[in-house]
Amino acid sequence: MTKLITGKTGLMGLIGNPVEHSISPQMHNTMCEIMGIDSVYMPFHVKAGQLGAVVSAFRGLNISGFNVTIPYKTDIIEFLDEISNEAKIIGAVNTVHVSNGRLIGYNTDGQGFISSLGLQGVEIKGKDIVVIGAGGATRAIAYKMAKAEAKKMTILNRSIEKAKIICELIQANSLTEAVFNELRPNNISKYTKDADIIINSTPIGMYPKTNEMPVDNDDMFRNNPCVVDLIYNPIKTEFLKKAEKNGCMTINGLGMLIYQGIRAFEIWNNIQIEENVASVLISKFTQHFGLHEGF
Ligand code: NAP
Repeated sequence: MTKLITGKTGLMGLIGNPVEHSISPQMHNTMCEIMGIDSVYMPFHVKAGQLGAVVSAFRGLNISGFNVTIPYKTDIIEFLDEISNEAKIIGAVNTVHVSNGRLIGYNTDGQGFISSLGLQGVEIKGKDIVVIGAGGATRAIAYKMAKAEAKKMTILNRSIEKAKIICELIQANSLTEAVFNELRPNNISKYTKDADIIINSTPIGMYPKTNEMPVDNDDMFRNNPCVVDLIYNPIKTEFLKKAEKNGCMTINGLGMLIYQGIRAFEIWNNIQIEENVASVLISKFTQHFGLHEGF
């Protein structure tokens, strides 16, 4: 049924460049329907050089909040009035709450990740974790996993310097043991042999290059770890397929996407969303990506 928009309908949104591929509008508008909230969520493609102008326009509108995606997650910070301690440490904001004309930035990616593992019964506390990749997503999830008392985290990346910086972030904020090295097929099993959880936090294997893997070695899943891929398009990457063939439990990135969105929606609307809403959304979008790989 088409939504009836009235003079009282609220507004939420997404800024980025591009935004056309995003499923956030479907996700948040579905949440509005489920929760009976009279708002709409719109994608806004922000042209290069226009971020400041767009953000100051938002101050004067009846928008309750917006998400921020590539390439503005760090650039947005200078235009905000306040940011959460977590977003400051991570150095990126994916959610902005507009409250009485003030803009407050948060990062809900890390919490989204932890909640998506929690949904599958996977705990972080006391675990030995290997993360492949050292970009923005790794910063967010590594910080949150360190706060959740992971025993050890190994960060493997093509550019070793970025892996080192994330280890320093972990060490400065927790008692988690942090190790880093260059990502190579011939050293991966040295780190994965005792791992409880292995995470692909690179875009390798994402649509349209779905036959690629971040690293490949026949021994890397020997310890029967839980294997996670932050990618959700495709729903099952080559990396997860190989893990599954080796008898591992696997988790894709859809749960993280849904939960970071749920947390943002909660902040903007000052409500708490029940657990079953996440399961409804995950099942809806698993079907969506199953049918429409590439969107
Ligand atoms: P990013 O900041 O651009 O970092 C990308 C990382 O991947 C870097 O460590 C980079 O290594 C590595 N990488 C890229 N291409 C590579 C290649 N050809 N060979 C080896 N390493 C390569 O990206 P991000 O924001 O961290 O995102 C990473 C992934 O997480 C993406 O697939 C993104 O879609 C996904 N993600 C998912 C969610 C979710 O909600 N599910 C949320 C955020 C991100 P270098 O440092 O050497 O360049």
